[in-house]
Amino acid sequence: MCSLNDISQAGEPEMLKEEILRLGARAAAVISVESISFDTAFRGMCASNACGNYGKSYMCPPDVGEIDDLIREAKTYSRAIVYQTVGLLADSYDFEGMMEAGQLHNELAQNVRALFCEKGRKALHLGAGGCRLCPVCGKKTGEPCRFPYRAMSSLEAYGINVSKLAAQCGMHYINGENTVTYFGAALF
Ligand code: SF4
Repeated sequence: MCSLNDISQAGEPEMLKEEILRLGARAAAVISVESISFDTAFRGMCASNACGNYGKSYMCPPDVGEIDDLIREAKTYSRAIVYQTVGLLADSYDFEGMMEAGQLHNELAQNVRALFCEKGRKALHLGAGGCRLCPVCGKKTGEPCRFPYRAMSSLEAYGINVSKLAAQCGMHYINGENTVTYFGAALF
């Protein structure tokens, strides 16, 4: 666990954004949390379990918490650095490529967390599609979370409308044929 301070100096968010780009993000932008579109309806989409993670990860619904509470928590922060990664696929059926790109995205999200920690910055970090820190989540094996200070939930689990978020940040939600795009954010 890192020691935490608020980001207070002018220009620091832009500096952090530049560092996130250097860490490998395709794009990054700073926006106000007030302008982010939250929708409790996203919980229904998680519950439909299209990704197979519902009830299988401590950082996914329902274990991660009630959506109203998570939205309330997110809104305690004032700004967010949103970033995206784009992975290349062999074709649109390249499931392995999608998983690999998701893993790379979540590695970047963990590096972003480490960057904030290094600088003593307090933030809520959200990644894409569940935690993926362990090959098999402790939730599936009946063990407690192995890395409670590094475990990371997703933008969707917090009810964030990611397609709107992308547009607000001047980013494409989809980046062309045979690509997969993931988003993450640090709220501070
Ligand atoms: S850190 Fe490991 S055990 Fe904890 S939520 Fe993430 S994948 Fe599951």
